[in-house]
Amino acid sequence: MRVAIIGAGMTGATAASALADAGAEVTVFDKGRGPGGRMSSKRLQLDGANGGYLQLDMGAQYFTARHPWFLHQVRQWQQQGLVQRWVFAPHVWQHGLLLPSDDAAIRYVGAPAMHQMLRSQLGTLVQHYSCQVTELSYSQSSFSSQQCGEWTVSTADGASYAGFDALLLTCPPEQCRKLLVTNPLAEQLPADLLLPCWAVAIELAEPVTHPAVGIFGKSGALSWCARHNAKPGRPALSEHWVLHLNAASSLQLLEATPGEVAAVAEQAFSQIVGQKLQVTSALCHRWLYASYNAELTPPGVLSEPAQRLVVAGDWSFGGRVENAWLAGVVAASQLLPEQIKAPDLSATAADSMLATQ
Ligand SMILES: Cc1cc2nc3c(=O)[nH]c(=O)nc-3n(C[C@H](O)[C@H](O)[C@H](O)COP(=O)(O)OP(=O)(O)OC[C@H]3O[C@@H](n4cnc5c(N)ncnc54)[C@H](O)[C@@H]3O)c2cc1C
Repeated sequence: MRVAIIGAGMTGATAASALADAGAEVTVFDKGRGPGGRMSSKRLQLDGANGGYLQLDMGAQYFTARHPWFLHQVRQWQQQGLVQRWVFAPHVWQHGLLLPSDDAAIRYVGAPAMHQMLRSQLGTLVQHYSCQVTELSYSQSSFSSQQCGEWTVSTADGASYAGFDALLLTCPPEQCRKLLVTNPLAEQLPADLLLPCWAVAIELAEPVTHPAVGIFGKSGALSWCARHNAKPGRPALSEHWVLHLNAASSLQLLEATPGEVAAVAEQAFSQIVGQKLQVTSALCHRWLYASYNAELTPPGVLSEPAQRLVVAGDWSFGGRVENAWLAGVVAASQLLPEQIKAPDLSATAADSMLATQ
């Protein structure tokens, strides 16, 4: 079976690997410059004493693992040196106080970058990057007795890739909807499932004196602050932090300039750590579709078996890296049900899927 997968994030890479292991011929398309999606890193040019540049995790900061299948996968990645535990005692910023948190979650990071294991999952499969898919078309063979149609993938550079027996779409819902156009699956994708997030990375001339490594913001503009140079597998070149604005502030500043956003983030962070900051470099990235809107019910993995079309993503089960991985396995199992087992997403597992961290 020839399968086209749109999206090389955790969902697409996981499905690609499972389908290829089961004998499918997989081709992956992504508009980004490499695999990763919301787990990809961005370059921060350093102006501080050391010069050079840093690869920073601007999207997913870490991930947790609850489902036994994902835990098993994470252990394998650890053994392969692709993933490390990130051990730190988190802090919480609330009502003007920065206090230790009682959260005891076990956190992991890809090392040296978040998307490290995706590269390994995708291996030598056919992958097209910087390749924005603009149109998907399905044509039913006139000889067909049953499933004989084929998919054609068209891209922004004018190329067309034909002859796929199956198609898996793993983009954020708004982007899936654009590509599905009039396909009835488009109507099953709720609006605003993923909320925006502005991410700001800053390099500082002097270290933050407060010992915090990871701070959850419960009030103010920031939802998260991470001492990036304290993450495992990252070079401790200089003091640099990644700050995330919460969804409400990100929405408010959606069309603001990076300079305006950086100013808001720096001021909020300076207040949290109680220190005047000397920022030597800054980098902003706007994620239009970042984290799951917990007020909405996850729609699950959507499919149209007659056309061998599956639509899946972290949003299928409530956002987060773990759910993206599970969505990838479920999607693959729907395309090749006889060869690939679906994970048991029973009530206990489903409850923990909606956990925020
Ligand atoms: C700021 C931020 C912080 C986060 N923090 C955490 C965290 O701490 N812990 C956690 O577990 N999760 C976190 N997440 C969520 C986590 O990153 C996602 O759950 C996960 O990476 C989603 O993977 P995915 O494959 O489902 O989607 P994506 O990673 O979004 O992959 C979809 C891919 O589709 C591609 N694409 C879209 N449209 C097209 C097109 N037309 N043509 C070609 N390619 C296309 C995109 O380029 C992208 O690579 C965070 C996300 C963000 C943005």
